[in-house]
Amino acid sequence: MSAYDPDNIFAKILRGEIPSTRVYEDNETLAFMDIMPRADGHLLVIPKTPCRNVLDATPEQLNAVMATVQKLALAAKRAFDAGGVTIQQFNEAAGGQEVFHLHFHILPRHEGEPLRAPGKMGDFEVIAKHAEQIKAAL
Ligand code: 5GP
Repeated sequence: MSAYDPDNIFAKILRGEIPSTRVYEDNETLAFMDIMPRADGHLLVIPKTPCRNVLDATPEQLNAVMATVQKLALAAKRAFDAGGVTIQQFNEAAGGQEVFHLHFHILPRHEGEPLRAPGKMGDFEVIAKHAEQIKAAL
């Protein structure tokens, strides 16, 4: 497995070098909106410390991230009155990973509504509004 690249896009978001729509942070983790949302309220949770994915993360990183994943899954479910929540996580390119800093996707879901296709940029104002809805539900 390759070494962690400190110039990956989420490391740059953590350092504030590129903008993001943040919804929550604590000492160990950060949650922010996905710029290509596959569902309304699609957000990402990452550790603030470096690791590529679940395969090299420490138990402490995983514990911290999962606690935040649960907190944000509950908030996103409430914010969108969702029937359920899909949590996705990919490891290495062969596993579908594109950004090599550990992250979990949180996707509020409604019965019978499929996820939107990947790779389509969302509307910034809509994403910002959805972030406010999630923050209000925290
Ligand atoms: P994965 O590595 O889990 O396959 O996909 C990376 C995810 O990060 C995708 O859902 C993509 O939309 C999202 N993403 C890629 N670049 C950026 C970015 O610059 N900002 C944000 N907020 N999300 C991004």
